[in-house]
Amino acid sequence: MPDKILTHEDMMNLPYVRFVRSIASKKSMHAPAQDGVTAGTTLKARIDWGRWLVDCPDCPSAAMVSENERVYWCLSCGNASVKFAWRKVQMPQARKSIEAALMKRPAAQPNNAVTRNWKPGETVAELEKVNKDNGV
Ligand SMILES: [Zn+2]
Repeated sequence: MPDKILTHEDMMNLPYVRFVRSIASKKSMHAPAQDGVTAGTTLKARIDWGRWLVDCPDCPSAAMVSENERVYWCLSCGNASVKFAWRKVQMPQARKSIEAALMKRPAAQPNNAVTRNWKPGETVAELEKVNKDNGV
């Protein structure tokens, strides 16, 4: 596992959309609607314990963001509120700077990096201040 802020592809072999379709099928869920079409509001990614995550707007579920396929389909509620369509996922414009600031923080494992967290709206300057305040 690379020492970086992780995405779906760092943890899973199957591409994200195929992964979701496979799990939905195994769980006998309603299948995701057409690939390449999105509905509802665009979801903003966040970083939690060193992983890019996206939260379901309809239930308490979340999933790792895909590097290659910026969509989300909830494996708990199936995006039923948008007729099982994929939802679009957005990474922040300052992604590289955010990741660089967080990667200065030590972690036992890249996927268990308790201090590597970021939420939309939080600035790189704020992250760097936390780094400085903690001597990293
Ligand atoms: Zn959900």
